[in-house]
Amino acid sequence: MLKNFKNVEKTVFGRGGFDQLGAIVDERRSENDCFTVFLVDNYFEDKPLGQRIPSKPDDMLLFVDIQAHEPTTEQVDTIRDSILKKGLPSCIAGIGGGSVLDICKAVSLMVTNEGSSSLYQGLNLIKKPGVYAIGVPTIAGTGAEVSMTAVLTGPEKKLGLKCEWTVLNQILLDPDLIANVPTNQWFYTGMDCYIHCIESEKGIFNNAYSTAFGDQALRLCREIFLEENAGQTFENDEKLMVASLMGGSSLTYSEVGVCHALSYGLSYVFEYRHGFANCIAFNQLGDYYPEGVREFKDMVNRFQIDLPQNLSADWSDEEVSRMAEISIRLEHMWHHAFGENWKEKINIETIKGLFRRM
Ligand code: NAD
Ligand code: ZN
Repeated sequence: MLKNFKNVEKTVFGRGGFDQLGAIVDERRSENDCFTVFLVDNYFEDKPLGQRIPSKPDDMLLFVDIQAHEPTTEQVDTIRDSILKKGLPSCIAGIGGGSVLDICKAVSLMVTNEGSSSLYQGLNLIKKPGVYAIGVPTIAGTGAEVSMTAVLTGPEKKLGLKCEWTVLNQILLDPDLIANVPTNQWFYTGMDCYIHCIESEKGIFNNAYSTAFGDQALRLCREIFLEENAGQTFENDEKLMVASLMGGSSLTYSEVGVCHALSYGLSYVFEYRHGFANCIAFNQLGDYYPEGVREFKDMVNRFQIDLPQNLSADWSDEEVSRMAEISIRLEHMWHHAFGENWKEKINIETIKGLFRRM
């Protein structure tokens, strides 16, 4: 059976697009209990963008703390409970990076599905559609704006709520919003996109559809991170927003691979942010993705990004084992990277060996 994917319904792309958010949420104000929830990265609370949120007196404007750790099921449940005290919103808009977009996607589902979000970590476990969800990225690379998953860390695992209702209804891509991301974070999140494309291509679920998106995103990544006009420029901010979307589409129609399987372990045990964890892992994966890793290292050098080395010298055997156990459970990623008989090539000891390279 072939996968049957759902796409985002509506997209606004272009500078100044953020100013259309008010009109977009107004279109839905008569639905449910007639109020809008804005979930905003708390980084913006004292920034100009924090003052531009088009909330009305009856709305809920929640600044979400995503600095200490990646989104958790507990955090999503708490936000959901506070919203339901007021009623069922007409729509939820998430404004921030992949973390806030995932929280927005998850909360929109959890206001209509009973119990803890940890019950729904997995494929097609959600029972009912959520409320209308809008995503406004402020940093680009994860592809969370187009993907079918809301990645959450729960009591037992880091795994997405994945089903067709997870897909955002509307996205608003305004390149002005990503203009001032600090260089290291810009790079780490941007490399998430690059790595999505490499991993999507180098595995058995790769197909003409996923490759077309991936090739386009890779071309844009090379312009942004490697070639003559590389850097955080006006033109490149526009390109990166599109690359992120295309990279996300590529992996949605294929799969991620070794780097993401390892990166989930790193994030679970050490709470490293996704883009950073990917960079730490990918840097050591020259055996599996030789050309991609070579090009990645050129990009690291180009922007003089500090990537820590020899981290594993400080890791205990128990920490390495826990990471390997999280990682090996991501069977779909290993299957994609090594084929149906992946268990003949990869086992818990090989995975521990990969972590010890880092
Ligand atoms: P993020 O949302 O975790 O934010 C990273 C940092 O950048 C934060 O400190 C944030 O405050 C800051 N930031 C965001 N916008 C900024 C701006 N305009 N200016 C200055 N600082 C800004 O970053 P991310 O890399 O976009 O997202 C990572 C998360 O996305 C992880 O939780 C990961 O699991 C998830 N993810 C989801 C998918 C998916 O398909 N759903 C795919 C990949 C990653
Ligand atoms: Zn990723």
